[in-house]
Amino acid sequence: MSFEKLGLIKPLLSAINELGYEHPTLIQKRAIPLVMAKTDIFATAQTGTGKTAAFGLPILQRLRKTDGEAGRSARAVILSPTRELSIQIHEDLDNFSKHMKVECVVLVGGKDISAQQRILQRGVDVIIATPGRFLEHVENGLDIANIEVLVLDEADRMLDMGFTKDIRKIHPLLPKNHQTLLFSATYSDKVRKLSKLVLRSPAFIETSKKNSTVDTINQVAYLVDTERKAELLAYLIGSRNYPQVLVFTRTKVSADALFEELQKDGLKCGLIHGDIPQAKRLKTLAQFKEMKIRVLVATDIASRGLDIEELPYVINYELPSVSEDYVHRVGRTGRAGRDGEAISLLDIYEKYDIKDIERVIGQKIPQKTVEGFEPDPSIRRKDIEDIKLKSEHKKPEKKKVRQYNKNTSGIVTKKTTKKRKTTKRDAK
Ligand code: AMP
Repeated sequence: MSFEKLGLIKPLLSAINELGYEHPTLIQKRAIPLVMAKTDIFATAQTGTGKTAAFGLPILQRLRKTDGEAGRSARAVILSPTRELSIQIHEDLDNFSKHMKVECVVLVGGKDISAQQRILQRGVDVIIATPGRFLEHVENGLDIANIEVLVLDEADRMLDMGFTKDIRKIHPLLPKNHQTLLFSATYSDKVRKLSKLVLRSPAFIETSKKNSTVDTINQVAYLVDTERKAELLAYLIGSRNYPQVLVFTRTKVSADALFEELQKDGLKCGLIHGDIPQAKRLKTLAQFKEMKIRVLVATDIASRGLDIEELPYVINYELPSVSEDYVHRVGRTGRAGRDGEAISLLDIYEKYDIKDIERVIGQKIPQKTVEGFEPDPSIRRKDIEDIKLKSEHKKPEKKKVRQYNKNTSGIVTKKTTKKRKTTKRDAK
């Protein structure tokens, strides 16, 4: 099967060719004809499957005839959960439409709304936006009467991030006969509910097993004591000569701490999380893509929508608090059929938590140790939980945990204030 056979027009075929895409991916083969036939779609597709082109190419084809008039209103809107993903989709659409006269605009929070309004006044064809900012524009009078296609990309993530209300508000405001394309990495109850509300006689496309990770990713977990994780991470990166690594933490606090620690180890690092200003995040991402930064430390907010070509390694410094996020994190590697490796560093708690993840992905992740970093066998989960329980009944105090000390090669007692449980909000 070729892109020509899918019936794509010349300007799109030339652009695809220039991007080096030789054959359509599975989701592209299935979705493109359906989108062209104006059918609603419910697609479970992971990141890295080529889903942006699966909806982007047929939408551009449909919009190829623009009247070119200033002030013309958009005919397609693509909603995505994060600014980064919206910007990424915009970049992809700009690449696909480089030989066409289609105007795409990205509307995300954190940017000047009046500047965005001025761009809209010049006339646009496609809007790529986060739901909150899109709604703000609609409430400020954005003309959506000509919208023909709505794309909900990474719908599960949008719902997880609290955009349900916004989407429910937006949907009835769009013209009655518009086409809706819903893409989701997972098939949760929340997504199913939303699909019932927004889709009309949809075609279902399932390109992978439910929540399964991409086949080409080699997954492994290393057991290690909590306090030695940063050291093991630096050791793995250094001794294995990893050229470019994306490292995930569960919280902003641990991302900050790890970032400092790795910098002290002399590694060129970047940091992306919800408290980092948007401009700085984008700059860091660009530096990482250009390989000026070797290690990018990120929380889950960054785990969606980062499109980094041929990213070979993803390391879960801490497991995500939501098991499904594991799929999204490791989806950063092994993209579009390339090989990748996903490493998880497991402390005594996570050794058990990973079972949830294994249930979600339907496969076992082998657990290994790295010589010199074997966990201290005298630390037992129960001991730590007992200490935690006691401390929850008392006033907050520093807890004592027995740990292995590499300098003395023996067991020492160390004070730690590390808390394991965090809220979802904290992770953003
Ligand atoms: P996506 O799932 O849309 O984020 O795409 C993942 C990556 O695959 C991006 O880097 C795309 O540029 C790339 N890609 C998409 N479609 C193809 C294709 N047919 N052949 C090769 N690479 C592709």
